[in-house]
Parts: sequence; C-alpha cells; structure tokens
Amino acid sequence: MAVRVVIDRRRCIGAGTCIVTAPSAFRWRQGDFVKPELADESTVDEDVLREVAAACPTQAIVLEDFIESMEASELGA
Ligand code: SF4
Repeated sequence: MAVRVVIDRRRCIGAGTCIVTAPSAFRWRQGDFVKPELADESTVDEDVLREVAAACPTQAIVLEDFIESMEASELGA
C-alpha cells in the first residue's frame, strides 16, 4: 500500500505549510506562486506526508491510499 498525494487548488490558500514542512516533496508552482505543486513526494516518508496533510489549514492536501502494482479500480473496488 502506498499513498498518492492530491492538492486541491480550490481549497489551497497558499499558506505554504506544505512547502516549509516538506520542501523536497512540494514546491511553488511555476508562474503561480500562491499555489503549490508536487515536486517529488517519494523523497519523504509516508508519515511526513500525513503530517503535512494534517497541518494544511484548509485540508487541501488529500492522501489517497492505493496498491502500487494495481489501481483499486482495476481490482473492482
Ligand atoms: S499547506 Fe495547504 S493551504 Fe498551504 S500551500 Fe500547502 S496546500 Fe496550500
């Protein structure tokens, strides 16, 4: 099991907590400096991603559990 990180840009207020907490995983989006994007979430442990999601003031970071080798939809879930 692994997690996929989704950033809901409609909810994001650009507080930057994700970038400060995990700068290798998140960065400011080019040309849109008040919204983050994923840099490389594989550079941090899943626990850190969960900490970042919990610390986001608007719950704009959503972690989706998935099975790495096969999407849940492919399993009929
Ligand atoms: S912590 Fe949440 S609100 Fe702040 S920049 Fe990241 S996604 Fe946006």
